[in-house]
Amino acid sequence: MWIGVDDTDAREGMCTTYLALEIIEEMERRGYALLSFPRLVRLNPNIPWKTRGNGAIALRFGRGVKKLHRIGEVRGREVWVWEGEDVSPSPGALRAVMGIVERRRVRSRDTSPGVVVAESMPSALYWRAVRDVVWMRDVVPVLEGEKALFSGINGGRGVIGAAAAIAWDERFVTYELLTYLPESEWFRERWVDDASVAEMERRTRRTFDSYDPYQGRAVIKPSARTPVLYGIRGTLWEELVDAMGMVSADRYESWLIFATNQGSDDHIVETRVCDVRPFTSCALYGRVVKNPVRIRGGHVIFSIDDGTGEISCAAYRPTGPFRDVVQSLRAGDEVVVYGGVRDRPLTLNLEKIRVVSLIKLRVKVANPRCPCCGKSMESIGRNSGYRCRKCGTRSEDAVYREVKRDIAPGWYEVPPSARRHLAMPLALLSDQKLRGVEDEKRHK
Ligand SMILES: [Zn+2]
Repeated sequence: MWIGVDDTDAREGMCTTYLALEIIEEMERRGYALLSFPRLVRLNPNIPWKTRGNGAIALRFGRGVKKLHRIGEVRGREVWVWEGEDVSPSPGALRAVMGIVERRRVRSRDTSPGVVVAESMPSALYWRAVRDVVWMRDVVPVLEGEKALFSGINGGRGVIGAAAAIAWDERFVTYELLTYLPESEWFRERWVDDASVAEMERRTRRTFDSYDPYQGRAVIKPSARTPVLYGIRGTLWEELVDAMGMVSADRYESWLIFATNQGSDDHIVETRVCDVRPFTSCALYGRVVKNPVRIRGGHVIFSIDDGTGEISCAAYRPTGPFRDVVQSLRAGDEVVVYGGVRDRPLTLNLEKIRVVSLIKLRVKVANPRCPCCGKSMESIGRNSGYRCRKCGTRSEDAVYREVKRDIAPGWYEVPPSARRHLAMPLALLSDQKLRGVEDEKRHK
């Protein structure tokens, strides 16, 4: 039996994960055991009406037979993933979880919580919800088809994310260990030691995006005040427990490891410029057609063309040094751009870029010398070539010097502080992809 929950938090992204702790406590009291890692599933980041992190949770409960992994501690009680047997969705479970949501949700016009209890959901729903826009009218028939139990408050739009979190097929999984403050500390300043986080990242092999070297600060602390003290991301869940031990911070009351689609690039669709739609994310191959310009506010904008159309790409101010990389591009360079698409004007908000090839840039240093008599030739006129005044020999080309480019072919990404939850850091890209083998196969 899967339980999915979404849209319980207004601006603060991480409160929905806190509900996982209370749901686990409640379900264990009722004799159920957790049969998988709790899920934190991020959905389409480009939806204008999303909550801050656009993350939903899903938990799988059943009858426990044998303890497998210790994955957390909630107010002094260990949380385990069990080997066990699945059970059928129960109306009692839906009522219990609705009770928790009702008690804990942020009461505002913007929240529209939803809970889904189901045996499974088709993965197509996940892929639509992470890449596109999904409406209640799309989801309700799917829920009914799966005989799911569901309920919502204030419109219950959260049912969409809750169902999508259950539908996630875990094609690419990372983990996040979240620590939680005692309730009395939720709205206070919290302290996480930057240096200890930098050190933790050096000493662990499979964690990512904990520390931003450009800003010289830890990025594991949520920017808003929420129950979360910090979250450490990695591809090996066992290592996250060691990593937690290396971070100096305020005292936490609970911790829990989630399986997530963060860093998966699941939101990215490889497409052509003519097929780009607003509120989606894509990878586009093309040539730079307009040299980058830095506009007011410090954003860098350029545009590419792939033969089917032209689109602007932007590296916004928070992407810091990434903007300098982008600014070094010139018309004619061949690139693959990754990012979310903003509406009006249609602009790709860059998450990363692969520079495939660079054009040669050259500057004229002198008129050519005559190949017959060696005298310096003179220009006939703009773009018309040169002629020797003495013997009349003509030549097209002047003497050029190649200008060294201050960018090289390869991958470039925004710093961790500007990374979207779903965006795959270069550190996680497969070797094949890093070499560009996949792109080359596709485009040649
Ligand atoms: Zn001559």
